Amino acid sequence: MKQVIIIRYAEIYLKGKNRGFFEQIFANNIEKSLRGIKHEMHRPSGRYIIDNFAEEDVDEIVSRLKKVFGLHTLSLAYETGTSLEDIFEAAKLVCEEEGTFKVESHRGDKRYPLTSVEISKKLGGMILSYNYKLKVDVHKPSFTVNVDIRENDKALVFGNYIEGANGMPVGTAGKALLMISGGIDSPVAGHMIAKRGMKIDCLHFHSYPYTNDQAKEKVVDLATTLSSYTCGTNLCTVSVTHIQEAIHEKCKPELMITLLRRFMFRIAERHALRIGAQCLVTGESLGQVASQTIEGMTSSNSVVEKLPVLRPLVGFDKNEIIDRAVKIGTYETSILPYEDCCTVFLPDFPAIRPKLDEILREESKLDVEGMIEQAFASLERIVIM
Ligand code: ATP
Ligand code: MG
Repeated sequence: MKQVIIIRYAEIYLKGKNRGFFEQIFANNIEKSLRGIKHEMHRPSGRYIIDNFAEEDVDEIVSRLKKVFGLHTLSLAYETGTSLEDIFEAAKLVCEEEGTFKVESHRGDKRYPLTSVEISKKLGGMILSYNYKLKVDVHKPSFTVNVDIRENDKALVFGNYIEGANGMPVGTAGKALLMISGGIDSPVAGHMIAKRGMKIDCLHFHSYPYTNDQAKEKVVDLATTLSSYTCGTNLCTVSVTHIQEAIHEKCKPELMITLLRRFMFRIAERHALRIGAQCLVTGESLGQVASQTIEGMTSSNSVVEKLPVLRPLVGFDKNEIIDRAVKIGTYETSILPYEDCCTVFLPDFPAIRPKLDEILREESKLDVEGMIEQAFASLERIVIM
């Protein structure tokens, strides 16, 4: 029997004047996510139907669709004729061996000779006489047989609703620049902002040759995993080796991280403005490490002039972040041992509450503009589809 996939979107976001805009982007994102798999997509009102796929691709299609933001639920359904006999044949495929069930019917085609209640009753009776191990329970059934009579003289019969990623379609809320490290937190932060509809570009700082190719490979892998949710991404890498060396040579060692992070934020903001990103995103969480005290955040934030810095993990515990990293599939890569920035220069005792006047005094020993320019000269761009 012909199988189709019903996709329902998180309708709440799609109401009002912008509905067409959201729907178009959502449909494009679905198409992008299914690239390379044979299928067709149709858009009857209020939802989407995927069909004409190969049976062996079903699992892959479902797992890709579950990553598309804006998708509320999906169901694997059988498409059949609208006679009760046809519907019953499909219902048999949906029914479990034993347990309790109810039939939930819906008529898109109001010309259909039976009401939804009548369809449910009749089909329920047919199922009961076909399998005596099944019982009806309309309140707490162990499974539901859903019947949807459509206007094209076809009926869809399906069992459960599979939960989607929810959120808003990526691309409906502008573009963000994610500062991505090789750690656990930043990919999770990027995922959360993408969930609210932003496209994500990534920027990574490395200290080559102190850090190696494996460290870079790790970040490419993280960005690739992230891109399966964000419909692709651009990853740019910039070297901060010369910045770490200069700070190491000229400034107080306990301010290494503070000063380095101010460079990272300056570079990130300029890069964001060049690529049309409207905010910076970091994986910072309050109090997690020395540079993530409110004083540390104030110090790095104060060099950002035009854009907001979004810190979606600011109130999360590490365990909560790890749970999310596991769920989105970045955790295993994040815990690989390769460091993203050179640890050779890291002080034993970083300043926990850096004072701005002291930071500025140390920073005045550096050619800030020249070092930023040199960093941009090292920029490399990787397009991840
Ligand atoms: P993460 O797990 O994301 O690496 P972290 O707990 O190690 O975070 P920090 O190293 O202080 O914390 O980094 C805080 C945030 O600064 C990161 O989440 C990321 O957004 C940004 N960041 C840190 N290092 C880099 C880097 N090498 N390149 C780009 N962004 C970085
Ligand atoms: Mg880190």
